[in-house]
Amino acid sequence: MASQRAIENRGKLILRNEDLDGQRSRPEFVQAMMEDLHWLGIEWSEGPDSGGAYGPYSQSERRSHYLETWGRLRDGGIIYPCHCSRKDLAESVSAPNDNDDEPLYPGTCRERLATWQGNEPTGVNWRFRVPDGEAVDFVDLNCGRQSYRAGKDFGDFLVWRRDDIPSYQLAVVADDQAMGITEVVRGVDLLKSTARQILLGRALKFAERRYFHCDLVRDAAGVRLAKRHDGLSIRRLRESGRTPEEVLNWPPGQDR
Ligand SMILES: [Zn+2]
Repeated sequence: MASQRAIENRGKLILRNEDLDGQRSRPEFVQAMMEDLHWLGIEWSEGPDSGGAYGPYSQSERRSHYLETWGRLRDGGIIYPCHCSRKDLAESVSAPNDNDDEPLYPGTCRERLATWQGNEPTGVNWRFRVPDGEAVDFVDLNCGRQSYRAGKDFGDFLVWRRDDIPSYQLAVVADDQAMGITEVVRGVDLLKSTARQILLGRALKFAERRYFHCDLVRDAAGVRLAKRHDGLSIRRLRESGRTPEEVLNWPPGQDR
């Protein structure tokens, strides 16, 4: 889908390796992912293997960019250090709803005076103070009009984790800006994250991007592939003798 969007709009397809979670992104997985994408016939003009003007293309090599973004947010008083433990949060918040993995933060630390001396965010969680009640509306190129309300649909979200890893939200907003991304193509499970990223982008005075959220690939029983743990991956379909065309039109027998 991303590849098609790039061709139709005479753009360039960029492959970014989002490998901040070291546990889940070992180098051999990245290698296998790129091989599988090449096998499917998807070609990118910039990426970890091909390089490009805006590299590096692996997030694990882009810490300095994220630190700079963190510094700007901190200097602007837009984020704050949060000292809540996992246990504090578990006791005070409701369980995450729908597909979203970040529960509403109760705001315990948000008025704390940020007297942070260090040049590194290390050792504490950092959260973005969302403008309570502000509407985040955008038109998704696939799903249409979307509307979220800050403080209600999502709370103060993480921008930097206690274990010294920038959050997904901060990393992609920094990268989209630094890499000159004009259109983001990804799965519908990230619509709410997009609302967060739009707020982050506004706070940083970044240009707004276009978004295209596509349906997720499901198996014949309707279960999202990403949620299955039995390895119904591109690799397995490929090894079972399926052609790239069959995989791109997965599951079989459905018009997608
Ligand atoms: Zn806190």
